[in-house]
Amino acid sequence: MRTEADKIQNFIDGQFIEPVGGKYLDNIEPATGKSYSQVADSDSRDVDLAVVAAEKAFVDWSCTPAAERSKILLRIADLIERDLEKFARAESIDTGKPLSLARGLDIPRAVANFRFFATAILHTESEAHITDNVAFNYTTRQPRGIAGLISPWNLPLYLLSWKIAPAIAVGNIAIAKPSELTPVTAYMLCEIAQDVVHGTGPNVGAAITAHPKINTISFTGGTVTGRKVAEACAPLFKKVSLELGGKNPNIVFADADLEAAIAGSVRSSFANQGQICLCGSRVFAERSAYKDFVDRFIEKASKLKVGDPLDEKTEQGAIVNKTQLDKIKFYVDLAQEEGGKIALGGKAPKPINDRCRYGYFFPPTIITDLPVSCRTNREEIFGPVITITPFDNEEEVIGYANDTDYGLASSVWTQNLNRAHRVAEQIHTGTVWVNCWLVRDLRVPFGGMKASGVGREGGEEALRFFTEAKNICIAK
Ligand code: NAD
Repeated sequence: MRTEADKIQNFIDGQFIEPVGGKYLDNIEPATGKSYSQVADSDSRDVDLAVVAAEKAFVDWSCTPAAERSKILLRIADLIERDLEKFARAESIDTGKPLSLARGLDIPRAVANFRFFATAILHTESEAHITDNVAFNYTTRQPRGIAGLISPWNLPLYLLSWKIAPAIAVGNIAIAKPSELTPVTAYMLCEIAQDVVHGTGPNVGAAITAHPKINTISFTGGTVTGRKVAEACAPLFKKVSLELGGKNPNIVFADADLEAAIAGSVRSSFANQGQICLCGSRVFAERSAYKDFVDRFIEKASKLKVGDPLDEKTEQGAIVNKTQLDKIKFYVDLAQEEGGKIALGGKAPKPINDRCRYGYFFPPTIITDLPVSCRTNREEIFGPVITITPFDNEEEVIGYANDTDYGLASSVWTQNLNRAHRVAEQIHTGTVWVNCWLVRDLRVPFGGMKASGVGREGGEEALRFFTEAKNICIAK
């Protein structure tokens, strides 16, 4: 098993190799602010090599029977599970997330992703359509070829496996480009799977989206980058899935089970230091329960332990890098300029311990008294900073919830079933959770509306995305 301290090379044609340009980037540990390994700083020449290897591999892999492919994916899942603790530790060091979160969520979910798609391909159905007495149609779904998979730093193995598993399960070859900020678990995965080219977005990501032989692009990342990916892919008519940013509303009605709503909202606000695209960063509480909700929410959030990610008791780890930390600080300043009051947090904490003296930490931060349409309430911060706003009725809060360019996910807390249906129906987000958050069934469609993305991942949607439908029509 490779370890986090290695020099992280590309993995092409079954081998670890130096990037053609021979250049490397520092890989910084967020909790310490220090470089602890080097990651290949590749460019289009490395992508070209990966494409040559992928074309060769596609010939056999696309013809491998589904039962065989399934067995291989199940084996990958078993191997990750066998080394779960090593993967979790590597993910925690690389991202700054609490070890307990990597162990409880990230790595088990990567295992589940491989198992899910390994077995899904054994249970697909083929379509046939009979055209009266005229013809008989049947539809085949063939692998598309080479898929470029570009993923972000917040859930590195979790999100990469969410793309790799369906892409290869249906017979494609995947070329993965993990975030240059968090490359380690993808590197460890190479021991057991496919082509990985490391490096920056402008050098490697852009080369993947521009390569004429990579006809399928699955991208997860920010909306600004998503737009560039879409622009690069459109003239080449690539099939594209874009999972982008969010500014998710979390609506608490006065008739909710407040205890559950507060626990769920604190979790949805601050899990992974607020660096999950699905985090509820705009909390709306009905006015009659507002004061009680805010007081209890602050009390609960103030108890979250910010600490060394490797400390088992830590609930809030480090922010991924200095750029992201500076962005968070910028929005906290902006919120105050826009009239907001800091009800909790707002300043970087004192050094956590000696090891983490230069790490990138920021505490759970709650801002109140902001107008709904201000920048702080409209732009994605992607950190442990949320706003809480009161509302008076259903119609008003639905307007607030939808008053953003994003449309990824939302949560609604109420015990009134009719209201839950009514509100869920009218919110413009790809996922609506009622009385829960981040409950994920891998069969359901996942993705965003508006600036949160194009297309859906998950279950049948993913199997369809990574295949090409062909209809064969035979005259009767
Ligand atoms: P990012 O857009 O900066 O980077 C994502 C990936 O794209 C990285 O691998 C990066 O190297 C690459 N990239 C950068 N420029 C590129 C280019 N020109 N062409 C091709 N690839 C390029 O995003 P990030 O900062 O790594 O991740 C945070 C963002 O991701 C947030 O906006 C978050 O909401 C979003 N996100 C969305 C989902 C979802 O499922 N919708 C899930 C997780 C994260």
